[in-house]
Amino acid sequence: MMDDFNSEGSQQSHVLSQPSWNTPPGYTRTDPGPDGEVLWLYPKGLDTTLSNDFTLGAFHCPCGDKTCTHTLVHPRLVLALQTLRMMLGRPLALAAGFHCKPWHRLAGGRPRSYHTRGMAADIRCGSLEEVAELAGAAQQVRQIGGVGRYPARLTVHLDVRPRPRGGAVCWME
Ligand SMILES: [Zn+2]
Repeated sequence: MMDDFNSEGSQQSHVLSQPSWNTPPGYTRTDPGPDGEVLWLYPKGLDTTLSNDFTLGAFHCPCGDKTCTHTLVHPRLVLALQTLRMMLGRPLALAAGFHCKPWHRLAGGRPRSYHTRGMAADIRCGSLEEVAELAGAAQQVRQIGGVGRYPARLTVHLDVRPRPRGGAVCWME
């Protein structure tokens, strides 16, 4: 009886600590960039399941430009978001995922942004408390290397840059 309980318990924690995602047909692995990172490249029109709780549709660039045909997603970003979602136990609303470079410039983003490399997502929050809670939880996720709090916009920026030894790079604007 005791053994059954223990094995059930460990199975449960195994599931929670190892989020999985699909690698469906339709994506291409990019060649490693200058930083050695390999990304997933999807056609823009496609929607498909990336992990238990995240689908590709939420990551596409919102611009309507004809030259914006593909979406980059780093597998580590999907893993990080899924881990965070499981940690919090509630859905995360993506306000932004991938941005093509022209759109990112137009939207006033920084020239070198992890959004244009498929390595960042912005999460929409319902309150200032939620911004603080989400940013705090994100720092506990080891795949996350950057956490930006934007209280005025009620969003939290997360990216999967290589995490510095001392923990994620954090800022507030
Ligand atoms: Zn675009």
